[in-house]
Parts: sequence; C-alpha cells; structure tokens
Amino acid sequence: MDKIEHIGIAVKDLEKSNQLFASLFGAPHYKIEEVESEGVKTSFFKTGPNKIELLEATKPDSPIAKFIEKKGEGIHHIAFAVDDIVSEIARLKEEGFIVLNETPKKGADNKLVAFLHPKSTNGVLIELCQEITK
Ligand code: ZN
Repeated sequence: MDKIEHIGIAVKDLEKSNQLFASLFGAPHYKIEEVESEGVKTSFFKTGPNKIELLEATKPDSPIAKFIEKKGEGIHHIAFAVDDIVSEIARLKEEGFIVLNETPKKGADNKLVAFLHPKSTNGVLIELCQEITK
C-alpha cells in the first residue's frame, strides 16, 4: 500500500459544502464527477499534495445517504493508492480483512477501487485505488 490518495467526506449538500471547503482551503474544487452506479456526486479539492473528496448522495438508498443517516456528515473513508489492486485485494483477503469488492470497480477520478469493510479495520472504511492507465 502506498500514500493516502485522498480522504472522503460525506456531506448533505454538495453545493454548500463546496463553498465551505473553498473558504477553508482558499481555493475552489477542481472537478465534480457523478458516479451513477454508486449513487454519489463527488467534488475534489487539492490542498498542497493532498486531495479531499466530498461525497453527496444522489438517491436515498445510496451508501452515502445511509452513512449520513447513521453517523451524520463527516469523514467517510480514507483512500490509499496501490500499484496493483488485484494482488493487494488478494493479499488483504489472505490477511483476514473483509474485502467488499472482490473485483475492483470503476470509481471517480479515473480509478479502479475496492473497499474494505470497516468491521475488519477498526471502524474505518478503507478504499484502495489504482490509477487507470491506458
Ligand atoms: Zn474515495
């Protein structure tokens, strides 16, 4: 596993939060992307070398909607960059972690992603992401 690729924050109102985080960072988001299969709309900010992803639910049964219902707005996941997501999934399964996506799926920002169940990681939802290169 490599560096933290980004931190994901669940928000109720993406437009409002885009303004809030733009004030916080002193720079606006640089892109918005909807991942329809996940029922989320995301926006991305850069602060120095760091990336922050805001996530808003686009439908009531979206994982983000359920998260906010249960825990309220806040940090949703930490994403780590990996070079080879398929072998990393295999390694983590071997180690006993609960992998939610045995086959990586297409996430936002041109990434292949897979999540680890927070039950197996001290309550922290972990995202693995590999840049899609062509
Ligand atoms: Zn993410």
